[in-house]
Amino acid sequence: MKVLYVASECAPFIKTGGLADVIGAVPKALKPLGVDLKILLPAYPALSDILASGRSVCTCDDLFGGPAEVVEAKTEGLSLLLLDATHLYDRPGSIYLDETGHDWHDNHLRFGALCRVAADIANDGAGAWTPDIVHAHDWQAGLTPLMIELDDLPNPPATIITVHNVAFQGLFPWQEKDTFGIPDEHFTHEGAEYWGKLGFLKAGLSYADAITTVSPTYARELLTPEFGMGLEGVFQNRHDDLHGIINGIDLDTWNPKTDPHLAKNYTSRSLDRKAINRAALAERFGLDDSDGPLFCVVSRLTEQKGLDVLFEALPTLVEQGGQIAILGSGNSDLEEAFRQAQERYAGQVGTIIGYDEPLSHLMQGGSDAILVPSRFEPCGLTQLYGLRYGTLPVVAKTGGLADTVSDVSEETIRKKTATGFTCEPGNVEGLRDAISRACKAYGDRDLWRQLQKNAMRQMVGWEKSAKAYLALYHHLVSA
Ligand code: ADP
Repeated sequence: MKVLYVASECAPFIKTGGLADVIGAVPKALKPLGVDLKILLPAYPALSDILASGRSVCTCDDLFGGPAEVVEAKTEGLSLLLLDATHLYDRPGSIYLDETGHDWHDNHLRFGALCRVAADIANDGAGAWTPDIVHAHDWQAGLTPLMIELDDLPNPPATIITVHNVAFQGLFPWQEKDTFGIPDEHFTHEGAEYWGKLGFLKAGLSYADAITTVSPTYARELLTPEFGMGLEGVFQNRHDDLHGIINGIDLDTWNPKTDPHLAKNYTSRSLDRKAINRAALAERFGLDDSDGPLFCVVSRLTEQKGLDVLFEALPTLVEQGGQIAILGSGNSDLEEAFRQAQERYAGQVGTIIGYDEPLSHLMQGGSDAILVPSRFEPCGLTQLYGLRYGTLPVVAKTGGLADTVSDVSEETIRKKTATGFTCEPGNVEGLRDAISRACKAYGDRDLWRQLQKNAMRQMVGWEKSAKAYLALYHHLVSA
């Protein structure tokens, strides 16, 4: 089975969020199942060393304004096809935003080009390699299934699109259709049109043979106006082709036993060592010594993540004897609010604004609990890292958070299935209550230790979900 992934990020090479973690991890889990998977990725400057180590497999004289080349390189157990097009990707800063914080003016070209080349690979192959399945991820790869359809190949590959977050849809003026050779007949509700615009994600949802998203609960939520972000009708129409497959995590990268970013490695049998990581974390964040629980946040600071709700609940957290370390960046009002909280609650609240991969590991190793109070959350990965590190998740019951965290109750304690604390999304009172329950449970050392062991026993790797993807690939190929 040969599968081409089409994506805009891939850990550990280039990452802005969970998408990268998933793209970097699933191929390793599919490999032992006999899947030969290559990842088509823009050759951003961060990938220049890998690019230099690769070999050219195809070239193009003019890809939307300049020459391009696809270079194959193998690294870190992954097989990459890097789309080298300097006029599109060779620029400093964020992969999505310019220096003023706005989307790059030519993002439709940058990611439309990625889709165009994916369709070319489906047609002509990369070297002698031609995929059976083309699997597009998020809006950046969304035009791929339509381009493959327009190419009208005698033996087209099956196509899949995975929705990692429906909030990002890639909307552009409809006139851009000419750039991509999309005929007007596709300007329909059933096609690539979204309220008068060209929708990259919409096109993917309309033309892919199958749609997946990253948790069963989010798959159900996408059918509703509350979560579907205007695309609920499309999801309803394609209900039979929509599959919710829960994300896993890379168990090698996220392993408290071997994680090089921890001050002290530990397992579920040596949880006392977590205290050494906690001390290191407290020092980084300027937190006082304390007997209360240390919560953490590792997140984009946005409304989606419910961090305005958390901000309102901070006084409760501190009053209950808790401390909190916050690592994130995003919305400038939220950044400022958490900076001020650090001053108001000096020694109890610590804030670091920025993106810091090694620190994100120490946060998991050194904290007692991780807060993920999202309004919606397709899957969420930080609560899975929390489970793996015995750092109990305190989460809103939505999307993948609802699927992966089991609330502490008398019954779940008895059954040894309790792994965290849940509350309703977007509700300050609910979050205060969950935080209070966590603080109280932390006071009972035996209970807390049991909860940590329950959490660390959870199967959070890719094994099961990789099999679900493989079953879907087989189903599509045989159809
Ligand atoms: P999303 O993709 O919506 O941002 P996820 O929970 O799926 O949320 O994935 C977020 C990923 O990004 C996790 O690997 C998390 O550790 C990482 N992350 C988020 N913010 C930061 C940050 N400020 N520094 C380091 N890593 C971060």
